Amino acid sequence: QSGSDRVVVYEAGREDEFVRRLRVVNDLRTALRHNEIQVFYQPKARLEDGTICGVEALVRWHHAELGFLPPDEFIPATEQAGTIVHLTRYVLSEAVRQCRYWLDFGFELEVSVNLSARDLTDEYLPYHVLQILKDNEVRPEMLTLEVTESSIMEDIGRSVLVLECLRDLGVRISIDDFGTGHSSLAQLKNIPVHELKIDKSFVMPICDDRQNEAIVRATIELAHSLELSVVAEGVEDENAIRRVTSLGAEIAQGYFLSKPVPAEELTEWLTKYTPTVYRDRRKTDRAFAREA
Ligand code: C2E
Ligand code: CA
Repeated sequence: QSGSDRVVVYEAGREDEFVRRLRVVNDLRTALRHNEIQVFYQPKARLEDGTICGVEALVRWHHAELGFLPPDEFIPATEQAGTIVHLTRYVLSEAVRQCRYWLDFGFELEVSVNLSARDLTDEYLPYHVLQILKDNEVRPEMLTLEVTESSIMEDIGRSVLVLECLRDLGVRISIDDFGTGHSSLAQLKNIPVHELKIDKSFVMPICDDRQNEAIVRATIELAHSLELSVVAEGVEDENAIRRVTSLGAEIAQGYFLSKPVPAEELTEWLTKYTPTVYRDRRKTDRAFAREA
């Protein structure tokens, strides 16, 4: 493709993909009305005492004709089309309503909701958040909004204004997928943020790869020096949870605890859950060897 000699090549597969994308974008609002969109929840454990302190809301779409659609298939498309703001409001109101339900049930669980770049330029978002919290009588600090560095960078001026409004409401802000986006470390101090979530691509292989461990260690140190708490996401086994505990992360999330599940399933899981504190065996063994 150069100058005016443009050649457009249509591939059969590509066309199908394009049609499917269009379909997904067009169907979102109907899907929201017809309850095809469901919010799943994944628990997070406080590593200090092993208790479950919160959940992340993760959306699922059971499309009437296309079947199950994973978020990666419709989030980027709806974000590009701008319809994501409807989805965000739906997930926010579902998650805060569920938070109220759990509070009434005796479970004090903070809820985290993911925001997209579009949401960060939506100046009405703080009003909606405030309304939803008031309607459900949920304290603002029970809600965390997860944003990625890359989404903030798309329009840093407007994003910071929206994030400041949300922070002033008392809502917590978390930097999601930390380490994968733009290297905006210098910007961190200008963004009103409470928490860093280390991306699962660093946490999942933490026990097999020294470089990943070094990245996780450095990120935790950086976060603590900025007085931010750290969530290690993608903890898939016991060794990984032991390692992130010994490196000083405050919270862990991952398949080792539970996959994202529907609210009722999580309520049942919570009633059976026994808090466990995991310490790094490797470190303990070394400490024993030194003492002997
Ligand atoms: P994310 O925000 O980074 O969410 C974490 C993803 O990692 C989730 O995938 C979760 O199921 C997965 N995960 C958690 N623990 C583990 C683990 O131990 N191992 C592995 N292999 N994976 C783990 P999911 O639910 O498919 O969501 C994918 C992405 O879609 C999310 O990534 C987020 O960016 C987006 N997303 C999901 N729900 C929403 C939403 O309501 N709004 C927006 N804007 N984005 C959403
Ligand atoms: Ca997230």
